[in-house]
Amino acid sequence: MWSKLTVNMKKLTVIKDKIDQDLAELGGRSLIAQYMIKRIPPQCDPLGSQNRVVICTGIFAGTKLTTAHRLSIGSKSPLTGGIKESNSGGNAAYQMANQGIKMIEVLDVPEESGLWILHIGADGNATLKDAAIYKGCNNYEFSESMKETYGDACAVISIGCAGERLYKNASIQITEFKSGHPSRAAARGGIAAVFGSKGLKAVVIEEPVKKFEVTYVDEDKFKKVCLQLNKVIAEGAKTDPFSIIGTAATTDISGASGILPVDNFSGKFFCDYEKVGAQAFLDKLKSGGGRNRIPCQPGCVVQCSNCYNDPNGNYITSGFEYETIALFGPNCHISDLDAIARMDRLCDDIGVDTMETANSIAVCMDAGKIEWGDIPAVMGLLNELKEGTEFGDLLGQGCEAVGLQLGCKRIPVVKHQSMAGYDPRNTKGTGITYATSPMGADHTAGLTMGRAFDDAGRTGQAYASNKLQVAMCFADSMMCLFAFAHTVPVLPLLGELMAALYGGTSEFTRVATIGVTTLLTERGYNQMAGMTAQDDRLPEFFYTDRSPATGSVFDINDLELEVLFDFG
Ligand code: SF4
Repeated sequence: MWSKLTVNMKKLTVIKDKIDQDLAELGGRSLIAQYMIKRIPPQCDPLGSQNRVVICTGIFAGTKLTTAHRLSIGSKSPLTGGIKESNSGGNAAYQMANQGIKMIEVLDVPEESGLWILHIGADGNATLKDAAIYKGCNNYEFSESMKETYGDACAVISIGCAGERLYKNASIQITEFKSGHPSRAAARGGIAAVFGSKGLKAVVIEEPVKKFEVTYVDEDKFKKVCLQLNKVIAEGAKTDPFSIIGTAATTDISGASGILPVDNFSGKFFCDYEKVGAQAFLDKLKSGGGRNRIPCQPGCVVQCSNCYNDPNGNYITSGFEYETIALFGPNCHISDLDAIARMDRLCDDIGVDTMETANSIAVCMDAGKIEWGDIPAVMGLLNELKEGTEFGDLLGQGCEAVGLQLGCKRIPVVKHQSMAGYDPRNTKGTGITYATSPMGADHTAGLTMGRAFDDAGRTGQAYASNKLQVAMCFADSMMCLFAFAHTVPVLPLLGELMAALYGGTSEFTRVATIGVTTLLTERGYNQMAGMTAQDDRLPEFFYTDRSPATGSVFDINDLELEVLFDFG
């Protein structure tokens, strides 16, 4: 039987118990939606005592399904004011599963300010340890210190100075499998600030002496179907650009089609996109002695991660992704991959979302605070964020706050959260997802780019967004979406896996129902938190300012956005 840990930050206690019945067959995003709708008041103060943090594994955690060890972290978001599930790779969900822990709930706030680490030892004992000496310690130094104390296999989920300062752009960093670099991030929505409000510096999970063993209703059937699925995913990965190159491969497609955001979502075409494209990325890896095809979690056969070094072979960063390259790159008029890698490293270290932060910097450029493409000026602003200067504190409040303060006309946010690396005028289904996703503008909520639809046209885009938003809800409940993408021809196998693990029907509708229920629950939560149809809109400039690259505007009307969730 899976366990849950209840951590009370007011009483400074940790209680281990069996998982709640209503959550036992859920995981990831679906678990968080059902947990939050019943247990976190939608109108609570995100940084107050009623908000909670939920950290959980996926539906197939502890099994051999490839990428089953995705980590989900949920809370009411300080940035969007709504429900937030932010998920990440790394080794933390794997070590949670080894410990037999499906979920950790963190309640209340301390009576006096302080900082604690939730430590789960090799013997399975979980305690809160005083972490006052780590105040202000950033993620790279902190994770090194934890590895020295608890061994290389330990998993670390931590916040840097940004989370401690309750910045709304703060990210939670998670250690990557093997390297132990804190380069995987549950970045979106500022949940790290909720950690900070609770005085929770980190969760550190040691590898247990005795690993938890999953109980199956039909183990033989599960093994058979799991093997079949893993083979399909491995076969698909052989020709997958994310596997062969990394997510940086996206730059070539988005750059050529005008989808790549340029100069603060101006809609312009960026002639230099190949300088930050797939080949440039591979060349840089080779010349610096870095590498790609790295699994961020044990057992991943897609292996889209990487290790990026400077020209002298010194490590800069890892898990260096398209979103960071697009938004610190062309969206800030920068085409120097080494510089963007240094920005990524600094963001991971202090613990801020690279997307929210890069968009804030692009807004600073658009408003004339610094020049377009000025790399030293960008590093200067990131250092202000690190040092917590007055302007650094403003940057920490996210792109919208910065844009409003500087009087910028283009502020690319939905539900107060800034956009991922796709211009919605030229991938309209993605724009629909940005507008209507309960998560705010997001890259993993239902990205339609490259589907069998005309990206700049209207036909089929709402349909694509609808289907993908549902699919992402169940994908984010069970596996990494990059592996999930290869399961599409054999989706019914996911129903068979659920039945072999938990019993009950093996119909695929069981899986689809998880997706639909999760999405509608999240929308219901946001409505109770005070969001209305007006929160499901893109900023006006996308409707009025034509993209110079394609001549397109975002012309999906309000009615089309509103009927999207009519599943009746
Ligand atoms: S596909 Fe990439 S992000 Fe997903 S688990 Fe594998 S390495 Fe991690």
